[in-house]
Amino acid sequence: MHYSVDGRGFYGEFGGAFIPEMLHSNIEELKSRYLEIMEEKDFQDEMQQLLKNYVGRPTPLYYAKRLSLHFNAHIYLKREDLNHTGAHKINNTIGQILLAKRLGKSRIIAETGAGQHGVATATVCALMGLECIVYMGEIDIARQAPNVSRMKMLGAKVVPATSGSKTLKDATNEAIRDWINNPNDTHYIIGSVVGPHPYPDMVARFQSVISEEMKWQLKEQTGSENPDIIMACVGGGSNAAGAYYHYLDEDQVRLVAVEAAGLGVDSGESAATSVLGTKGIIHGSRTLLMQTEDGQIIEPYSISAGLDYPGIGPLHAHLIDTGRAEAISITDAEALEAAFLLTRLEGIIPALESAHAFAAMSYLKYRPEDVIVINLSGRGDKDLSTYIKKMES
Ligand SMILES: *Cc1c(COP(=O)(O)O)cnc(C)c1O
Repeated sequence: MHYSVDGRGFYGEFGGAFIPEMLHSNIEELKSRYLEIMEEKDFQDEMQQLLKNYVGRPTPLYYAKRLSLHFNAHIYLKREDLNHTGAHKINNTIGQILLAKRLGKSRIIAETGAGQHGVATATVCALMGLECIVYMGEIDIARQAPNVSRMKMLGAKVVPATSGSKTLKDATNEAIRDWINNPNDTHYIIGSVVGPHPYPDMVARFQSVISEEMKWQLKEQTGSENPDIIMACVGGGSNAAGAYYHYLDEDQVRLVAVEAAGLGVDSGESAATSVLGTKGIIHGSRTLLMQTEDGQIIEPYSISAGLDYPGIGPLHAHLIDTGRAEAISITDAEALEAAFLLTRLEGIIPALESAHAFAAMSYLKYRPEDVIVINLSGRGDKDLSTYIKKMES
């Protein structure tokens, strides 16, 4: 079995580039140049230097002693929450802004759900002095207010998406529309392993630094590069792709993808794509998505804006379809409870998205001797108002 993208941009039967004619030249340019640019010494030097001294990499791999005792396993946390701007998203935006500069682009657009990708994009635009426009669903603007203020302070223009469920999917539609209208000077920094080829592969490569570090950090701390299990939450799937990347062909390492069940998989208010999804095309890629029988997208729902998406990346669709990855879905209530558990046991307030991955421990089948790495994709500052509501209830 192979889990890397093929020459046509497919992972098995998922992926590809199903795009309007108007985007053809942009996607062709990216497709023909991304690998060559990423391999240039000058690009690598600049990226490695920024990841180290600006982002703060390598992020620690932390043995969570009290959490391990609680679950009777050996749990390590990959601390992506300690990155500059508070999540893994910056790994990708650093890479893409350097790519955009080499493609001669002066205007950057992005979509955002929780606002983490918007903040990470606005940050690298400030760093490089480029114009930045971020599309964000109206509902998300309301529930992630601190991140909206951060983007504005960083100099980005935040444009509300007012159609559909007014969340991530709708923001993505608006960003694609913008790109169609501004094909020459604009680069679209997609925030996850979604969208037309080459985005899923490109974003996975930029996030793969997570598992690259995990390998030597585990070797140092446990004597083996390989854990038994790697768990990560999946919205589009970029933090999970990064955490899995260098383990994809290590069949003995179990990969667990944790999705948002919202109010429950059968409630009609959910974002558990691997359970509820069927094969179809969304945002330029053939993948699993939540749709009606006649192909209308079903509005997703999750308490966490970063997981509130009706599709998953084509890599994850392939991993789940082939059985390489296991999927677990977690409700809002379970994620909230797990956020407080981690906070009280380890003194770490996680992002609501990441809290889903911790909640999955209750459903995971494991042995007490197993080494489990949970990717702590982001910190919880942006979710404080949700956590305050929970404390007051
Ligand atoms: C955006 C985000 C996610 C979901 O996106 P993926 O592409 O699935 O990683 C998860 N956690 C945090 C903290 C995020 O900001």
